[in-house]
Formats: sequence, C-alpha cells, structure tokens
Amino acid sequence: MVVSLDLSDRDKRAALSASAGASFMDEQKKPLIGLSREEMRLVLIEIGVPEKQAKMRTSQIWHWLYVRGVSDFALMANISKVLREMLEESFSIARPEIVEEQISKDGTRKWLMRFPARGAGKPVDIETVYIPEKNRGTLCISSQVGCTLTCTFCHTGTQRMVRNLTSEEILAQLLVAKDRLGDFPDRDTPQGGIAPERVRLVSNIVMMGMGEPLYNFENVKSALLIASDSDGIALSKRRITLSTSGVVPGIYRTGEEIGVALAISLHAVNDELRNELVPINKKYPLKELLDACRNYPGINNARRITFEYVMLKGVNDSLNDAKELARLLKGIPAKINLIPFNPWPGSEHECSDWDQIEKFADFINACGYASPIRRPRGSDIMAACGQLKSESEKMKARERLAMAAMVSGHGDE
Ligand code: SF4
Repeated sequence: MVVSLDLSDRDKRAALSASAGASFMDEQKKPLIGLSREEMRLVLIEIGVPEKQAKMRTSQIWHWLYVRGVSDFALMANISKVLREMLEESFSIARPEIVEEQISKDGTRKWLMRFPARGAGKPVDIETVYIPEKNRGTLCISSQVGCTLTCTFCHTGTQRMVRNLTSEEILAQLLVAKDRLGDFPDRDTPQGGIAPERVRLVSNIVMMGMGEPLYNFENVKSALLIASDSDGIALSKRRITLSTSGVVPGIYRTGEEIGVALAISLHAVNDELRNELVPINKKYPLKELLDACRNYPGINNARRITFEYVMLKGVNDSLNDAKELARLLKGIPAKINLIPFNPWPGSEHECSDWDQIEKFADFINACGYASPIRRPRGSDIMAACGQLKSESEKMKARERLAMAAMVSGHGDE
C-alpha cells in the first residue's frame, strides 16, 4: 500500500498536520522546541515569569513538549490560563507542515516536511524516513537542506546547499514521526498510524539524511542532547548515530560534547580514490580520519564505529580493496555496512555485481568484521535518496538471493 497525497491537496495536508495539533511553524515567534533547559528558563524570565518559578515552569513545559508531545499551549493542563496565553503570544511550539506522507508496503514511511524560509528566500522541504524492523524502529533525520559537499555517489551532493536546519527543525522531524506513528503516551493514534503495541516505535535515530551534520554542529548537538534527555524523549545515546563524511575536528567534538554513536561514510581505502569519491578527504585524509576514530571516546566491541561503504562497480569493490579495508581498520572496533549503490539519472557510477558484493562481504567477515549488506527498504515509495537509505541488516543466503534478483534491475532501490 502506498498512501500518497499530492502537493495540491491542501485539505489533506492540513488534516495531516492538524493531527499534530496546531498551526504550522511560525518564524515570527521564537521557538521553544530546540532550546536547552537553561535557554528555556531564560526566555521564560524574559516574558515575565518570576525567576523563582522559571525552573519549575521549564520542567512542566519540557514534559508537555517531549514526554506528551503536545504542540498547542492550550493542552498544558497544569499551567495557568494566563501563563498559557503569555506563552502563546511569544513562542511557537507548532509542527511543520506535512506536505506528503507515504507508507510503503514494507512499513517504511517517508514524510516530506516544509519549514519556514528563515532567510532562504522561500520555505524549504526536507524528507525524513522511518524504517521499522523486528526489534527496533529507526528514524533517518536530515541536518541541512542540500549539502556543501559533493560526494560523487550521493544524490544530495548534486543539490545546492540552501541552509542549515535549526535545532527546532531537526527535533521536529522526530516529533512529527512520533505524532504520526502514535508514539507519544496519552495521545490518540492518528488515522493511519500504528497502534502503540510496544513502548517505543521510534527506538533509534540516525543523522544520515540530507547534509553533513558536523557542518551544522551546534544545532545538531542541541537537538541530540534534547532527544537523549532522560526526562523527555529519553532515547539512549547508544541508539543515536551521527554519520559524517569525515569532518575530523567535529568527530572529536562529537565524542566529547554529544557522546552518541558514530558512523563514517568511508567508501574508499586509499586517499587517491577517496579524494574523488568523498572530496572532504583532501582536507582530512584517511590517516587523520582513522586516528580520530581510534580515539573516539567509549568505543569497544559493544560500541563499535560503523563504516559505510557503497559498492561501486570496478571502482572500490575488488578483493584487494577488501583486504586493504581490513588492514586499515585494524584495532578499531568496527562494523562495515556494505551499501549496494543506488543509481540516479546522471550518476557516473554503477552498482557492483551481486556476486562481487557477496565475495567482498565474505572476505571482510572472515577478517572478523561484521559486514551486513543493506537491504533496500521502501522501494515502492523511493525511500532511498541521497543518504536517506535503508536498514542495516545481515541477510541470510536466501534473502541475498532474493536481493540479487532485485539488484539485477536495481534502478529503483
Ligand atoms: S554523502 Fe553526505 S556529505 Fe556527501 S554529499 Fe551526500 S549528504 Fe553531503
């Protein structure tokens, strides 16, 4: 089943967004979502909340926003009407407009959300993808609209950079997904949502959508610290993964200041090829990148770094590449995700032959590294685009054969 609403269908879009509670994000008002507790306390004092009460009010509002998921001050039942009106006048807690929601037959969901222009000339649209699996549900979140980098295998790299997303907009992707999935307690399951049979439908998040998160460090940091706050959304930092193309200083900062799991878009095992595939390598070559990984705080065999490796036919998929990959990663607790390349019109690469992907995976495996091959998800809604990709899962031989059949016509991963 694909549920799809087209751009002209304003009523349905309003209904979708209204299920989240209120009017759309308003750039004229200051957002409360995305502020740290201290920042929230200070802005409450600015609008006249007595200093002695501000900490308590912050805790109340925090609970409503992140535990109960409300997007309308009127629903904050333990806050006086007068204060609710003051809040309404000064601040926004509204959701973005949901332009489109698609649900794949495999349960993958994709939302196209619209955020205010904020200096970009016109409102911006971004995609967020939810991938349900047996024991978890992963939300793939974007950090920028477009990207300044130009990785040659990535569709987003062909799109111009428009702007960074704010911490509010990064969090909004998570809040909208929870709204639409019925993943907040005490909230009605929206029409078309999944009944909350288990405690958390969004159990994991990956900063792996559009953009380089470490080029929007402060906003990403604020959003992830709020998402992992134990009195709010309370996602474990082990279940949050930040994926970078290799911004080395940002990797050190991520380890020290955020403490979430790390993924590296690696894709090549020597500087010459990586300079071409992931041009930021010219600034931060492999040695520096891998040193930063070796020194990433808290890594061990239970908390490994994920290395993403897109399989490009005749480019990076030989057994010599596999051998070099194992050598390079020696000493780093690592998992290697092999990603069958998803071509787009005009892309200069082809996906490796399935046999070759298998041989590559087997070699890496024999060297002692987990090397799952990503299984395409949401193909009927084209959930894969740029790095908005698929689940990571070790496939059994039977599934690999099925996958091989799909990859032979893999234009639409
Ligand atoms: S892979 Fe990531 S960093 Fe590279 S162009 Fe795509 S979105 Fe940007």
